[in-house]
Amino acid sequence: MSRPPIMICETCQEALTLVGIEEEGGQYVHGGSKPRDHEVVPVQAPPGWVGQCDFCAADMGTFVLPAGDFQDPNNPNRWSRGGWAACEACARLIEAGHWALLLVRVAEVFKQQHGQRMDLGQVLHLWGLHQALREAVDGPLRRVGGDDQ
Ligand SMILES: [Zn+2]
Ligand SMILES: [Zn+2]
Repeated sequence: MSRPPIMICETCQEALTLVGIEEEGGQYVHGGSKPRDHEVVPVQAPPGWVGQCDFCAADMGTFVLPAGDFQDPNNPNRWSRGGWAACEACARLIEAGHWALLLVRVAEVFKQQHGQRMDLGQVLHLWGLHQALREAVDGPLRRVGGDDQ
């Protein structure tokens, strides 16, 4: 089974989210809620590309949580493609199964980056997304550049 290529933004080097269906003219957009100062420039990620932590976006990912594609439960138009990158701190929480603590961490990082708290809707959105991810996980967390398998 071949995986679709991971698409990233050439300008900010972040993973993109697919809106709609690719074959039907779906579009890649920036994920998350961070303010952007540029238009998205979708390019195919080079082999072995990891990028920022897909959970907290505070650090570069040093782990990958392998996962199949899944629909964002909050927005059926959006698809998550492939595995999620995780930084050291997030990877530790995932490995221990501390998904609630992971959410606390992500909310904490959000507050630092935005200067304001996530509202309840955003927290619930993330929780739903993480739950959908957990169901789509199809392998153990692995360190990037570690045992290639
Ligand atoms: Zn960008
Ligand atoms: Zn992280």
